[in-house]
Amino acid sequence: MNKTPYYKPVAKEIEVFEKAFENKLPVLLKGPTGTGKSRFVEYMAHKLGKKLITVACHEETSATDLTGRFILKGNETVWMDGPLTKAVKEGYIIYLDEIAEARPDIIVAIHPLTDHRREMYIDKLGTSVKAHDDFMLVASFNPGYQHGFKDLKPSTKQRFVALSFDYPKEDVEKEILINESGIDESTAKKLVKIANKIRNLTEFGLAETVSTRLLVDAAKLIKSGLPKRLAVHTAIIQPLSDEPEIIRSLEDLADLMI
Ligand code: ADP
Repeated sequence: MNKTPYYKPVAKEIEVFEKAFENKLPVLLKGPTGTGKSRFVEYMAHKLGKKLITVACHEETSATDLTGRFILKGNETVWMDGPLTKAVKEGYIIYLDEIAEARPDIIVAIHPLTDHRREMYIDKLGTSVKAHDDFMLVASFNPGYQHGFKDLKPSTKQRFVALSFDYPKEDVEKEILINESGIDESTAKKLVKIANKIRNLTEFGLAETVSTRLLVDAAKLIKSGLPKRLAVHTAIIQPLSDEPEIIRSLEDLADLMI
């Protein structure tokens, strides 16, 4: 068996996920990018001993991509199950990452899987498939609607048990950085302080702020020998903005803290 993915719980999310699995309820992970949603699903799949299929949804992702399609093999057309059909039949956990980004027809496709019916309809085959007892649907969603992220309809959200993810508390985030990168405690603490300082700045109108992912990246660069300031500039600040003025202000602020 593979190594258990490292996941540091931040609230009661493990318990909720386990109970949702037991009760065959779909789960929605809400929160900004880089806050541990994917890592959490990997951890839970491992803990429950289930295979996980992840689909990174984008604006071209359609129901066909999930259910399957006919493909040409030699002179024949054969049916190929998509990732959702495979998960439904085999009893895997499927993780639809950033579900709101996908085309609306995927919402229609998953509806019958999210209620008592637990089945999916494959229109190209004209058949319905009953979900395996262990099948579980997990989706993630970034509710940053004020910055042009797509929203999910309330009627869709209400089909899920929802867990909220956010930037962890200082000491938890510090522990994550140490575990993920092997960096020393004092540097980890400084990185977290920089992140929280930037997170609290509202005047720059950043679409997304410093995620735990960016901090982990900076910590890894420092651990492998890159000067701290350069690591912070390139891993934390540059990805946040393309405005030279904003970048300069953020770099000045960070330089004082590292
Ligand atoms: P999301 O899916 O929310 O965009 P990820 O799960 O990819 O975010 O998290 C990004 C990175 O942040 C992970 O690779 C991991 O290094 C780190 N991370 C964030 N939160 C946690 C956590 N609670 N436990 C362990 N690692 C975490």
